[in-house]
Amino acid sequence: MKMLKDEILSKGIVLSEGVLKVDSFLNHQINPVLSLEMGKEFVSRFDQTSFTKVLTIESSGIAPAFTTALELGVELVFARKKKSLTMSDHVYTADVYSFTKQETNTITVSKDFINESDQVLIIDDFLANGQAALGLAKIVEQAGAKVSGIGIVIEKSFQPGRQVLLDAGYNVESLARIHSLKNNQVRFVDETVLV
Ligand code: 5GP
Repeated sequence: MKMLKDEILSKGIVLSEGVLKVDSFLNHQINPVLSLEMGKEFVSRFDQTSFTKVLTIESSGIAPAFTTALELGVELVFARKKKSLTMSDHVYTADVYSFTKQETNTITVSKDFINESDQVLIIDDFLANGQAALGLAKIVEQAGAKVSGIGIVIEKSFQPGRQVLLDAGYNVESLARIHSLKNNQVRFVDETVLV
């Protein structure tokens, strides 16, 4: 997706060979125009699939998941990273090891918002080792619902997440696929295939 790649190239900061900072348009400040385009792009990438719900994880997944849900005309549910005081035990949970925070969070979704007839599109901001997406998929499956697709804004293709999700049988679409972050430079997958 060109608009996203341009934003990554102009505003992304390579923190190390493994981590990209995109606080200025995705993870802290949000570019609403780009978010709207991401929603449209996800829907066109999955145009052969029907969905009844979008599921993401707070907080950075919410903007692209919201615009995708708006475009699909379905509701969006976000998993909470910490159980809220107002939440009962009427919840699905999964343990997710965070790549960036290096800690395990138990993510939680109320049983009221996913049921066995749902066909769910999972959306997240980054794909590294695939733990966040797998945790969300576990929640969908606990509800007896179906994971009909996984949409990722930025996939770091040099990390194992994509293969982990494909091996688990999921359909994955990523809007930008990063081949490497070496030498403080972002290189995308499609620009390196012929190298
Ligand atoms: P995974 O669960 O696939 O290992 O990692 C995905 C999660 O870790 C995302 O939800 C995102 O919050 C965070 N993450 C992983 N890699 C990066 C990165 O390079 N930059 C940022 N900003 N977040 C990342």
